[in-house]
Formats: sequence, C-alpha cells, structure tokens
Amino acid sequence: MSATLAYGVTADNVPLTRMLIQRRELRPDDVEIAIAYCGVCHSDAHMAHNDWKTSIYPMVPGHEIVGHVTAVGSAVTSHAVGDAVAVGCMVDSCLRCAACADHEEQHCENGAVGTYNSRERDTGKPTAGGYSQRIVVREHFVLSMPSSLDLRHAAPLLCAGITLWSPLRRFDAGPGKRVAIVGLGGLGHMGVKLASALGAEVTMITTSPSKGEDAKALGAHHVLLSTDPEAMTAAASRFDLIIDTIPVTHDVGPYVGLVARNGKIVVVGAIEVLAPIHAGMLLRNHRSLVGSAIGGLAATQEMLNFCAEHQVLPNCEVIAMQDINTAWARMQANDVRYRFVIDMSTLAA
Ligand SMILES: [Zn+2]
Ligand SMILES: [Zn+2]
Repeated sequence: MSATLAYGVTADNVPLTRMLIQRRELRPDDVEIAIAYCGVCHSDAHMAHNDWKTSIYPMVPGHEIVGHVTAVGSAVTSHAVGDAVAVGCMVDSCLRCAACADHEEQHCENGAVGTYNSRERDTGKPTAGGYSQRIVVREHFVLSMPSSLDLRHAAPLLCAGITLWSPLRRFDAGPGKRVAIVGLGGLGHMGVKLASALGAEVTMITTSPSKGEDAKALGAHHVLLSTDPEAMTAAASRFDLIIDTIPVTHDVGPYVGLVARNGKIVVVGAIEVLAPIHAGMLLRNHRSLVGSAIGGLAATQEMLNFCAEHQVLPNCEVIAMQDINTAWARMQANDVRYRFVIDMSTLAA
C-alpha cells in the first residue's frame, strides 16, 4: 500500500476536504498514474451528496482522469513509464462475459467497477477516484492519450466526451444526417462539437437564445428554441438523431415529436424518473427512445484518437484543488462553460 493525497467527503452533508488515502501495491497487470488533471462531473456531486442512495464514505470522487504513468506491473505491455494516459468511469470488469466480449465493459454482466464509489472485484475495498495525486488501475482500463491532445483540457472527454460519442457513433451521426442536441451543459457542448466534427448537420435545441448563440460558436449550424411553439411545430419529424442531455426529470414528449422516420432520441443526462409520454408518439415514424451510458474501452480510445485528429477539446475552466467546493456550487447553479478541470499539481499546496 502507498499513501496518496486526495480530496474527498466523509459524509453526505459536508464539504470536500484534504485527506490521505491508500493505493494498492501494483499487481502484475496494474499501471500507476500520477494524475495531472481531473474533470469535475455532475455525478461527483450527486454521489457525494448520496442523491442516488448508493454512496460509500469516505469518498474521493473524480472519473475524468489524465496523467502520466509512473510505474507498471511486470505483465503490463501497452503502457510504459512516462506515457500520457487517461482513465474514465470504470477501472475493472470481468473481461469474460458477453458484454465485455462485445467491448461494452460498462455493461459487464458481473458488474463493472466504477472509478470511485464502487468496490474492487476481489477485495471488496471501495475504489477512490481522480481527486487525488495518484491512482492504480488495471492495464485494460487505462487509455492512451495521443500526444496532440492538450492534457490541460482533455479530461472531460473521459466522461462527457464518451457519453456523447457513443450514441453519435452507434446511430451513425455523419454527413447527410440531421442531429439535434438538447441542453447545452458539459454533455451538450461536447455533443455539438463531436457531431459537427463528424460531419452531421447540427441543431442546438435550447430554451435560451443566448445559449443558442453559444452553441453556434461551438459548431452548431442551427438553433431551435423549445419555448417557441411555432418553431417546434415547424421542426416536427425533422431529426434523424436527437441526443437529450437534460440532467433532471423532464418531459421528453416535445422532443420525441421532432424525430424523423426510423429516427432515434437518446437520453444520456437524466438519471431520474421521466414524465410519461404518449406511446402514439413512438409508433408514429417508428421512433425509438433509447438510453445510453458512457462507452467501452475500445470506443473511448477511438473517441480520444478522433478528438486528437480533429482537435476537438472540451471548453474548460481550470481550477485549483482548494477551489473545488466553490466549483461544485457553481456547477450546480449551471455557472460554468462548460466543465471544471482540477489542476492536480495544486493538491499538495
Ligand atoms: Zn461523469
Ligand atoms: Zn464482464
């Protein structure tokens, strides 16, 4: 075991504070990483506050991790000391079941292990995330960072990026496809950037004209104000693919009505009860209402490589570790464009 500095919470109603945690000794297939930057995801605050009633304390959040390899186990072949690497929302799975064989480790039939607030498969010890100086992760779950990706801004690709990339790729967003993104936050802004880089015709659906302008600056071709009934009527059955990033409970019905024949609407943001929808909305046009959760390791690596090639990077506000409690409050008030990233070199200060 080796001690590492971290920031975490000891209960559901207390601020994050500095703490010392233990990382396991390297197993043959383990990689040790010095964390350079960690993105701040809405899930971090939800988990810390026990909003989903699954929280384990003390908890060190963080699942958008980039850094450099500092040591490798004896059997590791894909990463070497000094390599720039990344870790997302998972650190282990069985790698034997049908889901793992299909490169969808996040749906492992034996339970994927979350980067934090989860338990190691063999020891049952709680996992601790990226708000820390170092982390030890099984080789299969460590991604390679292409050298042309700016580490300072890349961390949010590991959750927000793959969450949008996965349905955009699965449902063939690209030239000739009309794609709409609902909601412009950490997820939505990555959706606009990735969908336009993939060559799709991208529409931002928002309640706010100013967010529409922001979305155009990020690459959206059109803006549809969901508060404008005439515009919504005119857009009926227009989109091949809609990605709904709204993070709270809401009525998806008005967006379902915008889906074209054989099109899809994908819910990626809300982990909540949704308002009822009339099934007739789905029957018409053979529409599908689909859920999507992050992506497997192969898809995540594909996304990182694509982002390097096309220089798609999240818009980040880089903060010091000591500012995390303020950052969480601002994130929950939607006062960030579009993602906070912690500069982990500030943790020891
Ligand atoms: Zn996340
Ligand atoms: Zn599995």
